[in-house]
Order: sequence, then C-alpha cells, then structure tokens
Amino acid sequence: MAFKFTPRKKFCRFCADKDLPLDYKRPDILGNFVTDRGKIIARRITGTCAKHQRRLTREIKKSRQMALLYYTATHSTEVRKRTV
Ligand SMILES: [Zn+2]
Repeated sequence: MAFKFTPRKKFCRFCADKDLPLDYKRPDILGNFVTDRGKIIARRITGTCAKHQRRLTREIKKSRQMALLYYTATHSTEVRKRTV
C-alpha cells in the first residue's frame, strides 16, 4: 500500500471529510483501511464510525471482487518490511 495509516487523534475520516469518497472504485483510499496483507483494519484502530465502517467493509469487499484490492499480499515485497 502506498499510504501508511498514521495513528493520531481518532475520528471517523469519512465524517470528518465529506469529500472523501467511500467507493470501491477508489482503492487508493480504501487501502488506508486495510493492512498490507489485505485485512480490514478494526474500527477501534482507525476510529471510523459504525455507519461508515459498515459501508467501508462492503466497499472493500466489492473492491476485492473487482481485483482493485487484493485479498492477500503474497506478491507484495513491501509486506516483508512491515509486520502487520
Ligand atoms: Zn463516519
């Protein structure tokens, strides 16, 4: 993943930024909410609210089916550098 999630003040990013698209067509954004191994990051870590986390999960799953995000990152070399 290109972006690393920076843990700071917890708030729902989708509530905070209305322009942030929560869309399966945006793996660059969804990528912030999955680990390098493709796991969805728990809400208590990202701070995403329940409503948005539910949508996020759906969008991520859709995105995976469209092969925009991967299920596992076995082909990624970056994974070995970071242990998530
Ligand atoms: Zn929210």
